[in-house]
Amino acid sequence: AKLSGKNRFSGFVPEMTLAAQRRVRIERDLRKAMERNELEVFYQPQFDCRSETIVGFEALARWPHAEQGYIAPSDFIPVAEECGLIGELGLWVLRRACADTAAWSKATGKALGLAVNVSARQLRERAFVDQVGQILRDTGLPAAQLELELTESFLMGDVEAALAFMRALREMGVKLSIDDFGTGYSSLSYLQSFPIDRLKIDRSFVQLLPEDGFTMTSAIISLAHGFDLSVVAEGVEAPSQLSWLQGAGCDYVQGYLMARPMPASAVRDLLLAQTAS
Ligand code: C2E
Ligand code: CA
Ligand code: CA
Ligand code: CA
Repeated sequence: AKLSGKNRFSGFVPEMTLAAQRRVRIERDLRKAMERNELEVFYQPQFDCRSETIVGFEALARWPHAEQGYIAPSDFIPVAEECGLIGELGLWVLRRACADTAAWSKATGKALGLAVNVSARQLRERAFVDQVGQILRDTGLPAAQLELELTESFLMGDVEAALAFMRALREMGVKLSIDDFGTGYSSLSYLQSFPIDRLKIDRSFVQLLPEDGFTMTSAIISLAHGFDLSVVAEGVEAPSQLSWLQGAGCDYVQGYLMARPMPASAVRDLLLAQTAS
């Protein structure tokens, strides 16, 4: 290496190195955690907007790290995507979440919904659709209870491939939703051509309610209903946001106001309490 060049980047190289080191460490630890089956799935309840009863859950990956406590998905999901671990991680979350939801549905006698995040990367793997089918058969969760959350970036890639993929899942009976709706740059015309069931209004809009953000939020609600799609508002934190959404005809809500993401054991307790009352 040209040692003479080192000084030219002083103050820059160390920072790059730290970020790179951190990434390498996360990748190494994540592989180990997955081998040891140390990842967890947390569940955030989704509520019917009017009746305020639980209709289902969104599954969210959690990584309890020995030294660092819980590592946020925003730190390890992108790493998993870059190093090729996301396929395995995503299937693991899906299997765990389908098994848990099947058990809760059986215990409560209710067809609880389950929403699982799917990274655009996962959809490049041809086997994905078959793997979803296999997991549904293995866990006994009816396909109609499963919803896969896709991002706008997925729809912007290879349109033909995306369409084929979505149709195959739809034929299986699985529902599809667009996550973080309104934050991407894709054309609205895809609502016309893609087989979608639901839009999720991004937290960044909901957070501004009721004083602000209502133009965007009500536009998304009427857009969704115009296309015969249901709509979920996420990141509801204030009672004033909930009542605005109720007035605006939003279908479902999810947020810290109602419930935070929680481990499976807490979900069981919550459902039992709800059934008992
Ligand atoms: P997301 O899919 O948009 O998930 C919603 C995020 O908002 C979650 O963060 C949730 O904990 C948080 N949240 C929910 N309600 C509120 C609220 O009222 N206020 C605030 N401030 N936040 C709220 P989390 O669990 O940290 O996940 C972050 C992102 O990581 C997710 O965003 C999703 O994109 C990704 N992710 C999580 N699990 C998975 C997974 O299994 N697979 C994939 N591909 N991505 C995942
Ligand atoms: Ca999501
Ligand atoms: Ca989201
Ligand atoms: Ca998000």
